[in-house]
Amino acid sequence: MLDAHDLRKTYQTGDGSLTVLDGVSLSVARGESVALTGESGSGKSTLLHLLGCLDTPDGGRLSLDGSRIDDLDDAGRARLRRDRIGVVFQSLNLIPSLTVAQNLAFQARLAGRHDPDWQQRLTRRLGLDGLGQRFPEQLSGGQQQRVAIGRAIANRPDLVLADEPTGNLDETTAARVMDLLLELVDETGAAFLMVTHSDVLAARLSRRLHLSGGRLA
Ligand code: ADP
Ligand code: MG
Repeated sequence: MLDAHDLRKTYQTGDGSLTVLDGVSLSVARGESVALTGESGSGKSTLLHLLGCLDTPDGGRLSLDGSRIDDLDDAGRARLRRDRIGVVFQSLNLIPSLTVAQNLAFQARLAGRHDPDWQQRLTRRLGLDGLGQRFPEQLSGGQQQRVAIGRAIANRPDLVLADEPTGNLDETTAARVMDLLLELVDETGAAFLMVTHSDVLAARLSRRLHLSGGRLA
């Protein structure tokens, strides 16, 4: 489903350049869930952004179902993100001026795939019943996190990427949110890759990759 081969990424910094990914290769199959661990600053978010077509690699190849996606133009990448990829960001990125219901439907509407029945079911499963007309700032951290998860899954993407999706939650809430995320991903049959600091959470996924020195082990 998702194939990355020899991905490279170097950032230009004020005082030179920093090679963050130095030949990263990985494959994720449909229905498979992969945990990505690594020290802070090891390049986990950078890799997730490349896999999610939010940024472009400096070298290497990336393909989805056998088609190259690393050489798409901006419009092509935007279309792919809209139609086939769901991302749960570390900083959530909920749209503050939209209600919970509007945030949930946003991407699916853009993709022309808004399905009111699925959204209603998703809303119930996320424990967000009755909160649809609220704005993000009127929700708890755990509730906001669940909206971010729902939004990433609302258009039933083929690939779901999550960057420390429970990083800002207490342990009990994190465990509940993680249960929900894994269940929903499983239900949609998507390929799933999640960045996490937690060994306990990583152990719940089917495979684990560790990023260190710009490479995976
Ligand atoms: P992680 O998610 O594992 O903590 P990141 O991928 O966020 O790591 O960052 C890896 C390294 O790249 C860090 O040293 C970070 O400071 C640097 N970095 C990330 N984004 C940029 C950028 N846009 N420009 C310059 N350096 C960056
Ligand atoms: Mg990060």
